[in-house]
Amino acid sequence: MKIGFVGTGVMGAAIAQNLLDAGHELTVFNRTKSKTAALVTAGASWADTPKKVVEQSEVVFTMVGFPNDVKQVYFEDDGIFAGSNEQTILIDMTTSKPSLAQKIAEYGASRGIKVLDAPVSGGDIGAKNATLTVMVGGQETAYQQVKPLFEKISKKVTLFGPAGAGQHAKMANQIMIAGTMTGLTETLLYTKAAGLDPHKVLDALSAGGAQNWSLSNYGPRILDDDYTPGFFARHFLKDLRIALQEADKMGLDLSATANAKRLYEVMVDVYDLGDQGTQGLINTYSKVDKENK
Ligand code: NAP
Repeated sequence: MKIGFVGTGVMGAAIAQNLLDAGHELTVFNRTKSKTAALVTAGASWADTPKKVVEQSEVVFTMVGFPNDVKQVYFEDDGIFAGSNEQTILIDMTTSKPSLAQKIAEYGASRGIKVLDAPVSGGDIGAKNATLTVMVGGQETAYQQVKPLFEKISKKVTLFGPAGAGQHAKMANQIMIAGTMTGLTETLLYTKAAGLDPHKVLDALSAGGAQNWSLSNYGPRILDDDYTPGFFARHFLKDLRIALQEADKMGLDLSATANAKRLYEVMVDVYDLGDQGTQGLINTYSKVDKENK
């Protein structure tokens, strides 16, 4: 199949590589061209604009950063809609706003173009190992057409309902991650203060009721002082803001998630650590500690 991919950062490059490895013809575009170099070396073709990517493709994936990036790549003059026709299927994997997913799907439907929102969970490691979880919103017919592609990049794919439902499912995921990331951070701070061996604690907790993905994947990175992203803290803050805006619309008060958002605001907006991975939250606590001494 002819596949297009717009946005080849941490997640997009790895997902696109798995689609290439599965034998598909791949055309790529990214704002910073150098981030497509490895894919081009592996056999992908570069196109100068998102529009040109779509003109070469039957199915186009987007995996950019923020909702505004999504708006830009879909709606700009050289954007995705400008190159689409009634045969094109568009899939946005960016973690973005449910309302934007609905707007894109409605715009597509008015022109006979099929659109799915399909954000993912499983991190940089899941993207590389093709073990992601894909959360899809949109029409069943389009979903069935591209399901075999999702199966090449994931271990679980679920259609949750109409446009925006995938983004809502991803927000549910991020609400859980808010708890596991703050829990992991404070577990390690407590472990250190109590004079315990953190390696032994992580090992023991991994086998008990506290076991979770953040602990297994980010715990060892923190012990190695490795704060490279992984998952950019600035992206996680974006997700927590979207989740809380959506919760607010539903009349829900998610106070633990709101507290996690405040902690990540300190990390990203006050200490300018948004380019670290989410595990860098622990550095915020040490900065606050120093300031209080
Ligand atoms: P990333 O490394 O920043 O990748 C985003 C890529 O999109 C960058 O290469 C960026 O280009 C490109 N881009 C942004 N705006 C663009 C535009 N207008 N036109 C063309 N390219 C554009 O981030 P990531 O970690 O892959 O995350 C991507 C999305 O997936 C985010 O929404 C994130 O929240 C979500 N997500 C991430 C993870 C994770 O663990 N990393 C897991 C699940 C979901 P530049 O190179 O020029 O910046």
